[in-house]
Amino acid sequence: MKNGCPQLSFENTQTAFRLKNDRALRRAHWLFGMLRFQLLVRIGNAVVNWSIKLRLPVSGIIKMTVFDQFCGGETLSDCLPILDQMSEVGVKSILDYSVEGKETEGQFDAACSKLLELVDFSKKNPSAPFVVFKPTAVGRFKLFVKVSDGKALTEQENIEWKVVLQRYELICQKAYDNQIPVLIDAEESWMQKAADELALLMMKKFNTSRAIVFNTAQLYRTDRLEYLKKLNESALSEGFFVGVKLVRGAYMEKERERAQKLGYASPICISKQATDINFDEGLRFMLSNCDRMSLYLGTHNEKSTYLAVQILGERNISSADQRVWFGQLYGMSDHISFNLGDTGYNVTKYVPFGPVREVVPYLTRRANENTSVAGQTGRELSLIRKEIERRRSLKKD
Ligand SMILES: Cc1cc2nc3c(=O)[nH]c(=O)nc-3n(C[C@H](O)[C@H](O)[C@H](O)COP(=O)(O)OP(=O)(O)OC[C@H]3O[C@@H](n4cnc5c(N)ncnc54)[C@H](O)[C@@H]3O)c2cc1C
Repeated sequence: MKNGCPQLSFENTQTAFRLKNDRALRRAHWLFGMLRFQLLVRIGNAVVNWSIKLRLPVSGIIKMTVFDQFCGGETLSDCLPILDQMSEVGVKSILDYSVEGKETEGQFDAACSKLLELVDFSKKNPSAPFVVFKPTAVGRFKLFVKVSDGKALTEQENIEWKVVLQRYELICQKAYDNQIPVLIDAEESWMQKAADELALLMMKKFNTSRAIVFNTAQLYRTDRLEYLKKLNESALSEGFFVGVKLVRGAYMEKERERAQKLGYASPICISKQATDINFDEGLRFMLSNCDRMSLYLGTHNEKSTYLAVQILGERNISSADQRVWFGQLYGMSDHISFNLGDTGYNVTKYVPFGPVREVVPYLTRRANENTSVAGQTGRELSLIRKEIERRRSLKKD
């Protein structure tokens, strides 16, 4: 125990994989082994996406492989056993309705209703202390882009944008009434300005005594440290609280491709090292201003997580302080989540759910991420191997 913060190690595979039986562990080993091969993943993604479009019966195979590894189930009730098991060992959940790429008002209304239902669920289930949504789950991507560009909206678009604002207000008001914090994901930089403005409006309205609304800052963007500083200044001068989920950012290739195609400077840090420096700087800044700022640290990076824990110790902030949360995605980096939970830190897993066919875009991103983050996949594999070996040697004894 150091300054109220318990000592932590991510090397403990027994704790990391305590909820995985031998079969699930072997499946994870096989899956992460496959995900190392970029070509295989690319072909797999293409085949799955075409099969879904052609309505071929591929749900079963998807379910047995990537879906079961990275999703909690198809419905809320499917996810319950997972939520209970994780909560018992100190890891909370954030149910993430991962149905993406919707375009119609009816679909946006349905997503909004689902969110309201999830707030009710969280109110009754301490195992799910946050809710989360993507801006483009409640409004059209192209409309976010047009507003971000500052272009004049048509009369119809003005009405549409007002409805997006109403959906934000419905969700955040309900979250506020029930005191359930809500995380708003970040997406592509060219639609994010409008999303940031909506999130700021919500923070000013609902973060009056603590952070209920959290926006997301992607620190692979060169301008986000400045964004955090300005947000803190506004909060101080206008008297509201800031909630921010810090992440590195998931759309790097897309961002670079678009910048190159349209001939503008890429908004993304020049190298991984530059992103890491920026991310850790953002983390330091937020923890030094935690009187105003609540932090949700969404990362699978061990060094950044250790750094956060170290700063908490140095600043005498308790591991159980509700202003600081850690987060990983379900099916990834269990060694971080379960060891954090075991040591008493506030930690959650995003638990995606939804019909198998509908969550394919989410699964495609996870598969791609696990090939592009080669080091991390290698780390997952070596930890799984270590645990398989540990269990084998126990059986021999
Ligand atoms: C709980 C949770 C919530 C998340 N929510 C969001 C969200 O709302 N929006 C979103 O965009 N992402 C989100 N992500 C994904 C996140 O942004 C990262 O893509 C992912 O977590 C990998 O980064 P890392 O910090 O975990 O690990 P690391 O493996 O240390 O970092 C990998 C990341 O570094 C950056 N990077 C890699 N190579 C380079 C390079 N050559 N130059 C510059 N930068 C580079 C990229 O951002 C890459 O994803 C979330 C992740 C988690 C765990």
